[in-house]
Amino acid sequence: MSTIDKERAVVEAAPNELFVGGEWRAASGGATLAVEDPSTGEPLVEVADATPEDATAALDAAVAVQDEWAAHPPRERGEILRRAFETMTERADDLALLMTLEMGKPLAESKAEVTYAAEFLRWFSEEAVRIEGRYATAPNGVGRLITMRQPVGPCYAITPWNFPAAMGTRKIGPAIAAGCTMVIKPAQQTPLSMLALARILEESGLPAGVLNVLTSSSSSEVSKPIISDPRLRKLTFTGSTAVGRTLVGQSAEGLLRTSMELGGNAPFIVFPDADVDAAVEGAVIAKMRNIGEACTAANRFHVADPVADEFTEKLAAKLGAMKVGRGTEEDVTVGPLIDADQRGKVAELVSDATGRGAQVLVGGREGDGAGYFYEPTVLSGVTGDARLLKEEIFGPVAPVVAFDDEDAAIAAANDTEFGLVAYVYTRDIKRAFRVVERLQTGMVGLNQGMVSNAAAPFGGVKASGFGREGGPEGIAEYLEIKYVAMAL
Ligand code: NAP
Repeated sequence: MSTIDKERAVVEAAPNELFVGGEWRAASGGATLAVEDPSTGEPLVEVADATPEDATAALDAAVAVQDEWAAHPPRERGEILRRAFETMTERADDLALLMTLEMGKPLAESKAEVTYAAEFLRWFSEEAVRIEGRYATAPNGVGRLITMRQPVGPCYAITPWNFPAAMGTRKIGPAIAAGCTMVIKPAQQTPLSMLALARILEESGLPAGVLNVLTSSSSSEVSKPIISDPRLRKLTFTGSTAVGRTLVGQSAEGLLRTSMELGGNAPFIVFPDADVDAAVEGAVIAKMRNIGEACTAANRFHVADPVADEFTEKLAAKLGAMKVGRGTEEDVTVGPLIDADQRGKVAELVSDATGRGAQVLVGGREGDGAGYFYEPTVLSGVTGDARLLKEEIFGPVAPVVAFDDEDAAIAAANDTEFGLVAYVYTRDIKRAFRVVERLQTGMVGLNQGMVSNAAAPFGGVKASGFGREGGPEGIAEYLEIKYVAMAL
């Protein structure tokens, strides 16, 4: 099959309708929305464009089967997830191609995301049978204290475009394992990966109504009726801090359980005792994974004076050698940004920094021709007032700032409203722990440029949100604790 035929085949094989109550169907108004290939700007396919009525129907379907699903044997809930993990793994090549076409990242990275996404299904398939309570004698010796953990109830999940599958499975996996039903809404730029995932869960035996998928061009309009419905019990969101703030406000009326995985502004700190080559390797991963469009992306590099020049030159050489192009092409390691707005924002932040005195060591330009390409860029001499030290760049741009001592490095790292992740490179074990304890973040990469792992609690503090996804903590977000006071 030619490459073009293969691309057409995976797009045509993906569902393009709403998934409500176990049925694939068109939107109630019959409208559709176009999904675009960010490497060409050309439309790929149309998918259903849900209305607020469809949103209510999706919640109706989730509510209708909540009690039944909560009572479903945990082993069977886990086995459905396990089968879905296996199917995702078998179909990894097609799922990766679909993801690259709608999101832009290079095929190898899409494949890595499919593996990462499937891993959440496997992890939570194992957690489904470990939902336990406790039994204790009351301190006065008379009564007994019993706790049990029960599903929260119907959930609404909203996910972003940057990791179209993994941001879904991080929520779907624990919800299914815990016995919750849900409605999920992917971002309009990347609905296909989520629809393909829903089909896999359906094929794996997930009962109708447990998972419902809405795709829509008006996220706010379809979300409002769900969030304001008293039958909803939880809202889980991954996306920008600005939208997260709005959703927390909307969820206050129903006093919903909420999990908020929001934006980041990760500092990457290189101490003078670090292995500089290892730090550069880690920096390439922390900066360039997902074309820099990751909440965990290193947003700014704080490098000790004695090693700053060496680190910056080596980083510029590495980023300058990366191949930019369509994610399906051989050897491409940097795909396009998601859309014109995102590329415009990256260009604006670079021009703000250079306007204040930063020097461009490599890159600093938009790609020519179709698609939303931006060259990998390293900036040195970035001044403290540059906007990109405070704002999430979400693109392949690495600003480097030098520091003179440990206290200054920590103060600079913490000088942000965000608190998702920080990266620390040092060979001094005491310094490592001193610094890790003082960083105001939910996660730290210690001598490594990537923290994501299905077995670990992912999440932030401050304006990066609250709640954790993955690890044993991930399922707790979907469980309520009931305490029974018993007289003996
Ligand atoms: P976004 O604009 O906040 O959108 C995220 C999701 O929210 C999309 O599905 C979007 O739908 C929907 N949405 C937007 N406005 C809404 C509203 N008023 N009501 C209900 N839903 C609404 O973020 P994004 O640009 O897609 O994603 C990038 C952001 O996500 C970055 O800030 C990144 O750091 C963050 N992120 C955080 C994590 C984490 O785990 N902490 C992980 C990945 C990404 P439409 O796009 O279809 O409108």
